[in-house]
Amino acid sequence: MSGRVALTNCGEVLTNAGDVLHGGTVLFSSGRVVDVIVGPSPSGFESVDVGGRVVTPGLIDAHTHAVYAGSRANEYEMRAKGATYQEIAAGGGGILSTVRAVRELDGEQLFAESRKHAEWMLKCGTTTAEIKSGYGLATLHELKMLDVVRRIGEETALDTVGTFLGAHAVPPEFAGDRKGYMDLVVDEMVPLVVSTGVASAFDIFVEEGYFDADDARRLAETLALPLRMHVDQFSSGGAQLASELGAATADHLEQTGPEGIEALADARVVPVLLPASVFCLGQKKYPDARRMLDFGMPVVLATDFNPGSSPTPSLPLVMSLACTQMGMTPMEALCGCTVNAAKALGRGDIGVLAPGAKADAVVWDTDDLSEVSYYVSAPLVWAVFKDGERAV
Ligand SMILES: [Zn+2]
Repeated sequence: MSGRVALTNCGEVLTNAGDVLHGGTVLFSSGRVVDVIVGPSPSGFESVDVGGRVVTPGLIDAHTHAVYAGSRANEYEMRAKGATYQEIAAGGGGILSTVRAVRELDGEQLFAESRKHAEWMLKCGTTTAEIKSGYGLATLHELKMLDVVRRIGEETALDTVGTFLGAHAVPPEFAGDRKGYMDLVVDEMVPLVVSTGVASAFDIFVEEGYFDADDARRLAETLALPLRMHVDQFSSGGAQLASELGAATADHLEQTGPEGIEALADARVVPVLLPASVFCLGQKKYPDARRMLDFGMPVVLATDFNPGSSPTPSLPLVMSLACTQMGMTPMEALCGCTVNAAKALGRGDIGVLAPGAKADAVVWDTDDLSEVSYYVSAPLVWAVFKDGERAV
């Protein structure tokens, strides 16, 4: 019996890319999906009656900054009084205030802080999260962050994928010398990140006051790992750059116009949209998801969970925003947090409930898949199964 679990009496089961099975039974064995069948469980499985509730693959959050210390609630108050994100950053706040907090902690302390964020994500139905470095901005601190990402994956029920984001901001000791800092990133950090195997991708924040096209080119030219890019959050033109560099994903895209979207579609760059960061910053312009979907692009939705611009671990909230603010359907939103998110991470073993996939699933306290996004911030997560075992 051990390791063999059957979720019986399921309502709707989202198996893969919009395919729904009604009245099914989901079979897990040894941490993998054996099958999703119609009708009751065969013998030899420990049965969990889910009472007609809906079942989806475990959610995948393909863009987070969930390893951090401190909070930026003080800036939240400043923004409430009218200060902008850029004004706060120019005053020494923003990313650099989190950098100070992260540098003060050793790996053990940073792990203790970040583990809490992993537990929050699990409770929201996330079973795999991509987590970026980028609050260390010095070789030892960047590696410390990526080691914490690895430990979360090993010591909590949340699976993690590390991304190296050394080019997140220019640290104070390189103020006015962005090129000098990029030398450090490319010549020292990149080889160490690659040789230690702690990251699956590189990332860079391309924005006025942060990094530019030449910096992104330098990182891309290392050809060491797939490139992901933060582009077009506040300005435009980044989508074309991501297409030119053959990026794996282009993330944010709030300011991307029709030509940029066409360029991304032609270059098969996966768009990763972060509507909670728009919402949390009190902005109005959401990415044009509808146009991307019309181009047949695999639109991904992620939280961007971070202490500054998107302090939320909740993919269900992100799905609600996608439907209310970006014209996505509930099913498109679910695909954005499952099968498409797996694509963004280059993974085929998660984001679906199909034979051989990881036994990661969420049981939602509703009999209608649409209600996962229809209810806003309602506690609908009834159970989370990770590697075939109940984690929440
Ligand atoms: Zn981000």
